[in-house]
Amino acid sequence: MFTSINPFTQETIAVYTAHTPQETEQKLELGYRAYRQQLQIPLTQRREWMMQIAESLRKDVDEHAALITSEMGKPLRESRAEVLKCATTAEYYAENIESMLAPRPIKSDAYKSYVSYEPKGIILAIMPWNFPYWQVFRFAIPNILAGNTGLLKHASNVSGCALAIEKLFMESGFPEGSFQSLLVSSKDLEPVFADSRVQGVTLTGSTPAGRSVAALAGKYIKKTVLELGGSDPFIVLKDADLEAAAKTAVQGRMQNAGQSCIAAKRWIVEKEVAPAFTAEVKRIIEGLKQGDPTDEATNIGPMARLDLAEELASQLQASISEGAEVLVGGYHEGCNFAPTLLRNVTVSTTAFKEETFGPIAVIVEADNEDAAIALANETNFGLGAALWTSDLDKAARLAKQIESGNVFINAMVRSDARLPFGGIKESGYGRELSLEGTHEFLNIKTVYIQ
Ligand code: NDP
Repeated sequence: MFTSINPFTQETIAVYTAHTPQETEQKLELGYRAYRQQLQIPLTQRREWMMQIAESLRKDVDEHAALITSEMGKPLRESRAEVLKCATTAEYYAENIESMLAPRPIKSDAYKSYVSYEPKGIILAIMPWNFPYWQVFRFAIPNILAGNTGLLKHASNVSGCALAIEKLFMESGFPEGSFQSLLVSSKDLEPVFADSRVQGVTLTGSTPAGRSVAALAGKYIKKTVLELGGSDPFIVLKDADLEAAAKTAVQGRMQNAGQSCIAAKRWIVEKEVAPAFTAEVKRIIEGLKQGDPTDEATNIGPMARLDLAEELASQLQASISEGAEVLVGGYHEGCNFAPTLLRNVTVSTTAFKEETFGPIAVIVEADNEDAAIALANETNFGLGAALWTSDLDKAARLAKQIESGNVFINAMVRSDARLPFGGIKESGYGRELSLEGTHEFLNIKTVYIQ
C-alpha cells in the first residue's frame, strides 16, 4: 500500500495498492513491446504526440498543480510553474530533437563512417517527490522522443502524480507502454534491474539511494545516471550587486520550502559586505509568509513529510549546539518549518557539513575571494554553484576553480531544458537534458562502410 498524505492538513488523500510481481511483468512486457513498436514509428509522429502532451499540461494546469500541492505541499503558484515548465520542455524537445538525434559523420579510413544514436529499450526512472512532475518529465521527454520507453518508480508519497503522468502519455497517442508507472517499494526493484528488457536506470534522490542503485545496476551491468544531493555554495564577493544577490539568495534557498538539490544551501560572503548582506536577507526572510500552500499569498508551504521536517530540526539543533546563532525562525510545528537564518557558521557546523533539505539558510564569512572558493569546495557534493560579482572576467576565472557540475554567475542555479544538468563528486554522474542528457541512454553506434 502507498499512502498519499497532505503534508499541510495531515489528511490521507488516497491509498494505492502496490503492483504485484505479475503486474510488474506485464508492464515490462508492455514497455518492451512499445519500444519495438516505436522503432517503426517516424520521429515526426512522436514529436506530434509530445506536442499533445504539452497542450494537455497547459489546458489542465490547475488540476495538475492542485495534485502536486496536495501530495507534497508546495505553494500552488510554484506547482503551476512546475507544470508549465514541463509543457515548455516538451515543446522545446519536440522542436529540437531531430538535430540531437542526427547521425554524426566522422572522417576515417572508411568510405563512410558515422555515429548513429539509437534507443535501447526500457529505462527505469526512480524519482523523488520534491518536483514530482519536473523530475519525471526531464527524463521522460528526451528519452521517449528518442525511442526509449519509460518505467517510473516514483517516490512513495506521490503516487497520484505518478499515475497522472502515466495517463497523460496514454492519452497523447504514444503506444501503450511507452510510459508507465510502477507502484512498488524500492526494496522490490531488483527483478526489474535484472530484466534484460530494462537497459538503463536513472535516479534522482539522496546519495545513500544513489549508492544502492549504482551497486545494483553494476551487478546487472546497467548504465546509470545519478542526480543526487547537493550543498550548493552561493558566493557573494564584495563587488557584487548586494540587493540583487540577497533577493536571489533567499529565493534560491527558500523556494519549494528549501527542498531542492540545487538550493543555495551555503551562503559564502566576503567579510566586508557580510553585515550589509546579512541585514538585507534577514529583512527579506522576515517578510516571507509561511502557511497554507493553497493560499495564493503563501511563499512557503509545509515540508513534504514529517520525518523530513524532524530530520531537519535535528540538524538545526546540532548546528545551534555547535555555536550557530539563529537570526530568524529556528522552530517548526509538524511539517511547517519556519524559514530560518543562521550565522556564526563554520566548516565544522552540521548545517555546513551536511545537506540540509529544508528552509535553513546559513551565512559563512570569507576573508577574501580565494578563501570563498576554498569554502565553496569544502564539501563532498558538487552539483551547482552561484557566484556574484560585478567583474565578469574574474567570474570566468573563479568559475573554473569551483568543483561543481554547473556555475551560475549573478543568477540562481536552476535547470533549463536547453542546458545540461548534473553533478560531480557525491552529487552523482551523468547528465540530463540537452544533447549530453539526450544521449545518455542511447546506443552510440559506430557504423563503418568500406
Ligand atoms: P530518497 O533518495 O530515499 O528517495 C528518492 C527516490 O529514490 C524515491 O523514489 C525512493 O523510493 C527511491 N529510493 C530510495 N532508496 C532506494 C534504494 N535503495 N533503491 C532504489 N530506490 C530507492 O529520498 P527521501 O525522500 O527519503 O529524502 C531524503 C533525502 O534525500 C532528502 O532529505 C534529500 O537530502 C535527498 N533528496 C534529494 C533529492 C534531489 O533532488 N537530488 C530529491 C529528494 C530527496 P521511496 O519513496 O519508495 O523510498
